[in-house]
Amino acid sequence: MYVLFARLASDVANPHLHVGGNLIHGVHILIGVGIGVVVLLPLGIIMYRKSKRRHSAVTSLVRGQIRREQLKSDIILNAIEDGVLVVDENHTIQLFNPGAATLTGWSIDEAVGVDVFSVMRLVDDKNVEYGKEQNPLFRVYGEKKALHDNHATLVSRSQKRIPISLSVSPLISVDGKVSGAVGIFRDSSAERNEEQRRAEFISTASHEMRTPVAAIEGYLALALNPNVSHIDSKAKEFLEKAHASTQHLGKLFQDLLTSAKAEDGRLSNHPMIIEMSSFLEQLVDGLRFAAEKKGLKLEFVVGDNAATIDATGGSKVIKPLYYVQVDPDRIREVVVNLFDNAVKYTDAGKVSIGVTGDNQVVQLRISDTGVGIPPEDIPHLFQKFYRVDNSATRTVGGSGLGLFICRKIVELYNGRIWVESELNKGTTFYINLPRVNNQAAQQIQTKEVAQAPVLPVSAVPGS
Ligand code: ADP
Repeated sequence: MYVLFARLASDVANPHLHVGGNLIHGVHILIGVGIGVVVLLPLGIIMYRKSKRRHSAVTSLVRGQIRREQLKSDIILNAIEDGVLVVDENHTIQLFNPGAATLTGWSIDEAVGVDVFSVMRLVDDKNVEYGKEQNPLFRVYGEKKALHDNHATLVSRSQKRIPISLSVSPLISVDGKVSGAVGIFRDSSAERNEEQRRAEFISTASHEMRTPVAAIEGYLALALNPNVSHIDSKAKEFLEKAHASTQHLGKLFQDLLTSAKAEDGRLSNHPMIIEMSSFLEQLVDGLRFAAEKKGLKLEFVVGDNAATIDATGGSKVIKPLYYVQVDPDRIREVVVNLFDNAVKYTDAGKVSIGVTGDNQVVQLRISDTGVGIPPEDIPHLFQKFYRVDNSATRTVGGSGLGLFICRKIVELYNGRIWVESELNKGTTFYINLPRVNNQAAQQIQTKEVAQAPVLPVSAVPGS
């Protein structure tokens, strides 16, 4: 470049002088460089200034955009009634919006920098403080997925109880770790009151309707009893149909009552220590007739498939002890419900009831070789009134409440129920219940016996 300018400068200085010594050549070069500097420097400065101006224009544009976006999210966060908070990996609150401040009674300045569990105190519907394993704001770090809780109650700073619905989503960093979480919560008092009113109406109505239905069923049974009434075969046929329908109606009212109670926590529940394999063995004995009536085999399996005990009671095996703390009436309801479904939706083959477990859980399973459940229906199966729409359910009566009630009961004991199924092959329902180890079970049993009310001598049976 400089050489070019030197050449140009020399031409400009003396276009005709192309001969001469080194001095002349040196002078030419100096002039060239001088002109180059004079022309280039301002040009460079102009270009540099321009690019600086362009750069600062871009920077301020980006800054402006960021500020605008920040302003937008600030406006949203400040305007919404819902409480929003962001916590870091140490459960420390980093962001707390005015909605969260109103609901919790903690000001933004007070809450930011504080442990989230001091600010977001949660209790259940029995006013028992949430343990960490129950609290979505803690569980989200382990489970790494969005969690929802519609049953929590927030204890505000002034000890006010506010029913809330809470959603917590993890903030996952590039290395796959949970680096924080976003919690959104709102006052759900209105919905809960509405739910309660609805549940109360259903439970009162079904309770009132059960009584006349039971009376009708009783009279129909009398009419069908040959020792009491004499009716012709045509009338018998009609009355049998009426009797079956009344029984179905009675079951529907009973299910409605149970589900309403399960929803508002009024389900009677007297948990005690029971040993699951002997409990089920007895239960299976009572169920065998219903399975055989339909031509189905009923099998009872203890442990890992190896120890199959035929329900007819053949071989004897040493069974492990699977202790759980549940209300036996409630768990019986669950097993009978699942067994009834297995029989209802199976035309041939067998129904199998099993129990197994590890250190943590006792697992029950009820499987059949029936029609199976389409995969798209499985996520909705435990919802209220959900029934699979197929020929099997169209011909077989039901309310769609059975599995909902099962789920509610299992959840009462911090258990889990789920299903695996293959169309036209069969279905298996699994229930996991927290296991009580043998030693703890015996201690609790001793306490249960000591706390049992002592009957007066005159009230002791046989006395
Ligand atoms: P229902 O009174 O209709 O049986 P449930 O809540 O007990 O109500 O069951 C819901 C639906 O799940 C049923 O309508 C049926 O379609 C399906 N289902 C439940 N158990 C089984 C099973 N063992 N095999 C096939 N389908 C089943």
